[in-house]
Amino acid sequence: MGYVLKREGLDGALAALSKDYLLYAPVRKVGEGRFTDVDVVRYDFVTSASELELDAKSDYSFKELLTPLSKTLFYFTEDEVHEAGDLGAPGAPAQAADDRPVIVFLRACDLHAVRRLDQMYLGNGPTDTFYARIRDRVRFALIGCTQSFASCFCVDMGANVAPEGWLFSLETSGDGYLCAVADDSVKAAFAGAATAEKDVEPAHVTENEVRVRTPQSVPTSIYKDPLWDEYTNRCIRCGRCNIVCPTCTCFTMQDVFYTDNGRVGERRRVQASCMIDGYTNVAGGGQYRKAAGERMRFKVLHKVWDFRQRFGYDMCVGCGRCDDVCPEYISFAACVNKLTDACEREEAQDE
Ligand code: SF4
Ligand code: SF4
Repeated sequence: MGYVLKREGLDGALAALSKDYLLYAPVRKVGEGRFTDVDVVRYDFVTSASELELDAKSDYSFKELLTPLSKTLFYFTEDEVHEAGDLGAPGAPAQAADDRPVIVFLRACDLHAVRRLDQMYLGNGPTDTFYARIRDRVRFALIGCTQSFASCFCVDMGANVAPEGWLFSLETSGDGYLCAVADDSVKAAFAGAATAEKDVEPAHVTENEVRVRTPQSVPTSIYKDPLWDEYTNRCIRCGRCNIVCPTCTCFTMQDVFYTDNGRVGERRRVQASCMIDGYTNVAGGGQYRKAAGERMRFKVLHKVWDFRQRFGYDMCVGCGRCDDVCPEYISFAACVNKLTDACEREEAQDE
């Protein structure tokens, strides 16, 4: 079942949904990008159709809700410990105190990325209770992809068609919207606001300009292949590629002390990056993967090889955000292709 909506109709549907849910969606922040007068599209809580940005790829992913950049886990004094609230979304103190479930608007590739996050936090040993508590409150709305964006390679990563698990879909169509309802619990919100009923299949792309081939086997000699040297020379180890990635899950802990004696304060969980200095520091002053090329090797192999060896599918979903944000114009997609070429070359030499 699907619906055709005008802007006012979608406003009505979102208002109806807002009685039961918080809505978290891509929003265009005008002039807040990394350069003067450049916009950024990132997630925020919304209540109306005019706030939604459905026709551009978000620079940052939905991940900020499920795994906030910085999340206070608990506060402590000498005598007591108090757990912090669940929703640590930046700038959302009102929502943090709100216990309604959240509908997250995301694209097919990002819904595939949720499976990766679930795999790491819920299906890789003991359940991560901090993640699980937020995840239990989250539902999804699918943003239909009416076009492929410049750096996307979701088709080659098998993430262009959404998996199940969304309540409804939404995409722009002319001066209005198309919506497919997959869950009866939200049907009334759209039925009462639509201008017409229509069979709607959420739009998805079937080809991308960027093509990526992932390796089918990786010889151990690849670890010392000269292909990684290029990244030692070019990468500035800023970690932006990790922070925008919807499938990166690493975090570190920080204790913030309010008093000089260190007995009053808070413990925070903060996103970490395998590309930045300090990530591999160990007791005794040791540090692994000092060169940026070694870090690139670790990241790329994890995304398109090591994760697959453990779970049977690739970690990367081909959203292309890492290519979009790299200040050194390093292309992850191009690196995967170089890796695959090198693997095939070295295997052919060994035959
Ligand atoms: S590695 Fe890059 S393309 Fe792949 S999921 Fe992460 S940000 Fe997207
Ligand atoms: S964004 Fe680019 S320069 Fe920064 S760590 Fe990633 S690959 Fe290196």
